[in-house]
Amino acid sequence: MKINLISDTVTKPSPGMLDAMMSAEVGDDVFKADPTVNRLEEKVAIMFNREAALYFPSGTMTNQTAIKLHTNPGDQLICDKYAHVYNYEGGGVSFNSGVSCKLIDGHLGMMTSDQVEEAINPPDFYHSPLTSLVCAENTTNKGGGACWNFSELLRIKEVCQKHGLAYHLDGARIWNALVEKGESAKQYGELFDTISVCLSKGLGCPVGSVLVGDKEMIDKALRIRKILGGGMRQAGFMAAAGIYALDNQINRLADDHKKAREIGSLLQSLLFIKKVEPLETNIIIFEINEDYLSVEDFIEKLLKKDIHIIGMGSSKLRMVTHMDYTDQMHETLLKTLKSL
Ligand SMILES: *Cc1c(COP(=O)(O)O)cnc(C)c1O
Repeated sequence: MKINLISDTVTKPSPGMLDAMMSAEVGDDVFKADPTVNRLEEKVAIMFNREAALYFPSGTMTNQTAIKLHTNPGDQLICDKYAHVYNYEGGGVSFNSGVSCKLIDGHLGMMTSDQVEEAINPPDFYHSPLTSLVCAENTTNKGGGACWNFSELLRIKEVCQKHGLAYHLDGARIWNALVEKGESAKQYGELFDTISVCLSKGLGCPVGSVLVGDKEMIDKALRIRKILGGGMRQAGFMAAAGIYALDNQINRLADDHKKAREIGSLLQSLLFIKKVEPLETNIIIFEINEDYLSVEDFIEKLLKKDIHIIGMGSSKLRMVTHMDYTDQMHETLLKTLKSL
């Protein structure tokens, strides 16, 4: 039995999801004529109480499109040093938009409104890049699935309004935050100019992300998606998976969080674990105490049991729980960890 905890993107469509995909009504979405894609976009827009939404092949493309929408070449955006848009999008911020990042030394991928305000370049000081956008990420990926305190996001919004900056949310795992904190999509929709959400992480779809915003913004996003090569034809087969996931697979994220907490507290009790980072959702980041066991040995021992996890550089390791990680796998993992 392979136990794959390298990411929550390793899931395969559930039987219900496959049924929904196979019976999807489709058309050519480049002509906006795929009824299932249109239905998904409308559904996500309504969830976040926004005018419009646009379906994309990836979360990288939704983020990159949003950054392009809110900036001009030469501008600067503000984000945490852990941000996905800075670390894991292949330098797309500069490649696609000609924009630089002002990095904030935040906590678990989250900034304070004071830090954001300090990072803004004075707009009349023309020697510095013009600050035009703030990007937040919830939950934070490199920050171990941490959830923002909503009131801090609100204070950052006030800073953005005061200084005329756009405000984008990389909400690849927003669903995990909503479930864990009991928050609503609408309250996020109210706060941000644009939000990018992933259907292919915890929600278990094979592909897909959605960008939400006002109509004017999403109309412009359609052109940028085209330029980036993200126009798709009968994408309704995939969009049907998205609709199914939104209807059926959000609340179950609580189970991923519960399993992650159980793994975290077991790790905490083991002699060869130096540290488990604060754990709120489905991402467990921990450090091996190499006086007892090397990282390589640890990974090797797990691999012998067909358990797959991922290194994050230095002695840090990561496990991510997801819908294909069953109760039985969970039992096996806990037993294996105890036996090392
Ligand atoms: C996964 C992820 C994305 C998008 O990734 P894709 O693989 O391009 O879909 C964006 N932001 C965060 C925080 C992510 O974890």
